[in-house]
Amino acid sequence: MPFRGGLLAYWQRQSCLLDNCVHWLTGTNSRTMLYQLWENVGVLSKDLPVYQQPYFMQVEHSGETLHLWRDLSRLRTDMLRLSPSEAPMIEEFIHLVTIYQGTVVVANKPIEQYTLWQKIKLLFAMRKIGKVHRKYAKMSIADYAAQFHHPLIQKFLTTYFPVHYNISSLFFVFGMFTSGNADLPAGGSRGMGERMVSRYESLGGKMHTDWEAERIEIKGDRAVGVRFSNGQMVEADYVVIACDLHHAITQLLPKEHWDAYMQEHYVDHPEKYPTYSSVNLFYKVNHLTHMVPEARILDINALEINGKRIPTAFVKHFNYEPSFAPADTTILQVLLTQYDDDSAYWQQLRATDYPAYSAAKKQVADAVAEALEATFPELTDSLTLLDVCTPATNERYCHAYRGAYMSFILTPYNEKNSHNGRVKGLRNVYLAGQWLQAPGGLPNAAVTGKFAIQRLVHDAKP
Ligand SMILES: Cc1cc2nc3c(=O)[nH]c(=O)nc-3n(C[C@H](O)[C@H](O)[C@H](O)COP(=O)(O)OP(=O)(O)OC[C@H]3O[C@@H](n4cnc5c(N)ncnc54)[C@H](O)[C@@H]3O)c2cc1C
Repeated sequence: MPFRGGLLAYWQRQSCLLDNCVHWLTGTNSRTMLYQLWENVGVLSKDLPVYQQPYFMQVEHSGETLHLWRDLSRLRTDMLRLSPSEAPMIEEFIHLVTIYQGTVVVANKPIEQYTLWQKIKLLFAMRKIGKVHRKYAKMSIADYAAQFHHPLIQKFLTTYFPVHYNISSLFFVFGMFTSGNADLPAGGSRGMGERMVSRYESLGGKMHTDWEAERIEIKGDRAVGVRFSNGQMVEADYVVIACDLHHAITQLLPKEHWDAYMQEHYVDHPEKYPTYSSVNLFYKVNHLTHMVPEARILDINALEINGKRIPTAFVKHFNYEPSFAPADTTILQVLLTQYDDDSAYWQQLRATDYPAYSAAKKQVADAVAEALEATFPELTDSLTLLDVCTPATNERYCHAYRGAYMSFILTPYNEKNSHNGRVKGLRNVYLAGQWLQAPGGLPNAAVTGKFAIQRLVHDAKP
């Protein structure tokens, strides 16, 4: 079971590399703290190319298109051309994205290790965002987008993230992308994963990816080791639990070590902390594509999953990584957003009726292929389905809570809480992983891993 790379997933099918993860990596700007962390774990370096996507996505409506350009002034011009009467709202939107370009992602050390002076400096650096954040963290994407009248602008704002996310989350992503701080590492998810493994092993680290931890062995207020499902017991001076937090507390740790964060998110009010996931499909195109944009919102006419219509999908190709596909062919990845009830549907179907689960995947794949062919006629009769994964796949390989691949959605009605990375009642056990800091993602996984080690080092000092 344990899956090397976890949700930073990639695998081979028919001589093609299926890159299931990274669409943008926050921290590619070399002046940021995150960049230093990515450099330290081997993901980025001055000698490695970073792919700078000219635009993050293209959205179309009634023959008009809008791109999230890397160049924000180009997006501004396009939006103004599209809807000149909404100029004040558009100018404000661009201004807000500019402010979020200055977001500082803390990645040097956990905040409790900051001196007072360092905290003041951080607050000062974040002062502009702090002001607008208070307002926009309380507004959903749906409500913000509804203030625009132009249907394409509304679609542009509402089709990438779930619309119950707060609008701050979208400003953040747009801000990171347009400030050149969210590009693609060389080799995509495989490049990232393999370089991290090499770096870890070069420092003496060892990996046992087929060992599944079954429980943490505890004596008093200390862990003494980890027991694995293959019968092995490994003694340990310190333990860092880096798997999905829900799995960790329900499988590895006794209840007396659950704290208020765990109780609130998973037991008392799980409904207040929604998550999302997707059905991901990969197709091989038996020629190079000239019509399909690098990343685009695809309209789908007739597709229902779990009794709900799915009107759009995100589609991208990987031509910028020629080694992913055999010469003169292209791989398309399509993502269909799924919510918690949909994840439950897929998991239930897979567990109770595997043939029906396979048939449901096939039905989705056929509907998406039809939409692709209808939108891009050059794809007709040239698509081969390579693979389909659902939220149930994330759960199966990574024990992902609700099959989600990001952490809790930041909504207008829940506070952003971070976990302190420690385990109540245990002096030598630390936590890492995206579930400690919403909304998750690769940076939060890496940052919490670093913080776990810094806490350990701090505690180990005589
Ligand atoms: C389709 C998709 C697109 C994404 N796009 C992006 C993106 O563009 N940018 C971005 O920043 N993030 C993206 N992400 C999210 C990113 O992949 C995750 O946020 C990140 O990988 C989470 O890392 P993690 O270490 O917290 O958890 P995981 O990746 O879940 O790692 C946990 C590991 O623990 C293992 N494990 C679980 N239980 C046990 C056990 N009992 N014993 C031993 N091992 C165990 C699992 O197999 C897994 O390997 C995407 C994810 C997906 C699926």
